[in-house]
Amino acid sequence: MKLVRFNDGRIGVTDGQRVVDVTTLAGVDAAAWPPVGMNQVIQNFATLAPAFAQALATQAGMPIADVHLQTPIPWPNKLLAYPVNYHDHATEMATRGLANVQGFFLKANSSLSGASEPIELPALPGREIHHECEIALIIGKIGRQIPVEKALDHLFGYACLLDMTIRGKEERVMRKSYDTFTPVGPWIVTADEVPDPCNIDMKLWVNGELKQQANTRDLIVDIAHMISIASSAATLYPGDIIASGTPAGVGPVHAGDRVSIEVAHIGRMEIPVVQGTRGANIVFEKPYEFVRAS
Ligand code: MN
Repeated sequence: MKLVRFNDGRIGVTDGQRVVDVTTLAGVDAAAWPPVGMNQVIQNFATLAPAFAQALATQAGMPIADVHLQTPIPWPNKLLAYPVNYHDHATEMATRGLANVQGFFLKANSSLSGASEPIELPALPGREIHHECEIALIIGKIGRQIPVEKALDHLFGYACLLDMTIRGKEERVMRKSYDTFTPVGPWIVTADEVPDPCNIDMKLWVNGELKQQANTRDLIVDIAHMISIASSAATLYPGDIIASGTPAGVGPVHAGDRVSIEVAHIGRMEIPVVQGTRGANIVFEKPYEFVRAS
């Protein structure tokens, strides 16, 4: 099943063409603060799923092109990310800081944005801001110290994810935490629709030119191990998001670009890049010294 969040916090099911509003069916208040409706849907999904399926089968809904697609889970307990998780990306970045050596890092939850929302470049002249093509793993069940062999039981689903990054030597968390630096979408696909987590193709284009492609079989830390390792340190909660890490081919984006990401079995989204006026601060005032880093 594909779940969307749209039009000011409404919850929907989609077949990729139509969206059927199930906000009321889910018992979600779209205007509630904090916006944890999708977290609740994930927690209660086994109970809700039959009614969602019936709604999609019996209601006309509206064309997906007519709705504003928001980030599916705007208020996760946490947004974790694995660094250098493909050997070819390690080579291009000249780093030995692989995911199985470094473990995960965190991005600000407020960096999450949706499929209908542009990436806003901060006003940092001379800095390169790179695309990183990744898969979002969505946690469905609470867990701590999850064994690898049980890790996939805790995986609710997947989405496309862009881990936008200012290159530089400043703290990674800050370089990756600007608003709109983590587009996720266009929807969540439940795990049952992906036949093999160790065989998922993904691709990224900038203005139609293919820049990145990979398959999850080439991950250094695979999906089950990412969940298991993360849970050894931090309790994972329904709605938590893990970014998988990116393959080779990262590069700068500029205002006016369109970044497209497609993940097999999951979907595709195309995000425009716009220049913002905000984002400058003393951290980025000093002359830019390019340092290869994740
Ligand atoms: Mn990344």
